[in-house]
Amino acid sequence: MIDPLILASTNRHKVVELERMVAGSMPVRTMAEFGEPPTIHETGSSFIDNAVLKAEGIAAWLRQRGERGFVLADDSGICIDALDGRPGVYSARFAGLHADDAGNNAHMVAQLRAIGCEQSLAHYVCVLALTHTINPVVVTATDADEVQVRGTTLCVTGRCDGEVRTTARGDGGFGYDPHFWIDARTRTFAELAPAAKAARSHRGEALRRLFAVWRR
Ligand code: IMP
Repeated sequence: MIDPLILASTNRHKVVELERMVAGSMPVRTMAEFGEPPTIHETGSSFIDNAVLKAEGIAAWLRQRGERGFVLADDSGICIDALDGRPGVYSARFAGLHADDAGNNAHMVAQLRAIGCEQSLAHYVCVLALTHTINPVVVTATDADEVQVRGTTLCVTGRCDGEVRTTARGDGGFGYDPHFWIDARTRTFAELAPAAKAARSHRGEALRRLFAVWRR
């Protein structure tokens, strides 16, 4: 029997998106099934560093509990050109340590307006880090920049380019999606159905890449 893919995230929006995308290709389990996971401190300065910290931290915790499976962590965020790439790895805490999506969006709008900007080029980044509680992950040889192996953990990067605007529209997605405009500013990520977002998003691209190089 194939080991399950354990989604090592407590962000329910990410979990819902990843579950939908993986559905049917392998068994999936979520952190909710294992009790309260330890807090993983995101002390890294890159998406890759933080994704590895999360994947390996949760894998070590599950290993101690005798669990077996592949562990998939997601570190993601938005990089805004007019803000010199910020908030980047600080996207979840742009407005402070316990900020929510509304607070982060309000902070982003304020930061843009403070420099006289109503819009800016921006891109989302998602790094998915995959490890196993016991065995190393096996990867097809590739020299793509978006694929890296750190020790026994596979890291795959996805990116989505668009524009952030101070005006928001739509109530789908999460995080910065109502402010993230695509298709020549005709729609936001928050206006896309889940499947359409998955087809376009940084997370969708990272997952497709992961399944292309991961030899299960
Ligand atoms: P992390 O938990 O440190 O990876 O932070 C992720 C943060 O980046 C989220 O809380 C959102 O603010 C932002 N983010 C990542 N992916 C998305 C997305 O698909 N849509 C909107 N915001 C996102």
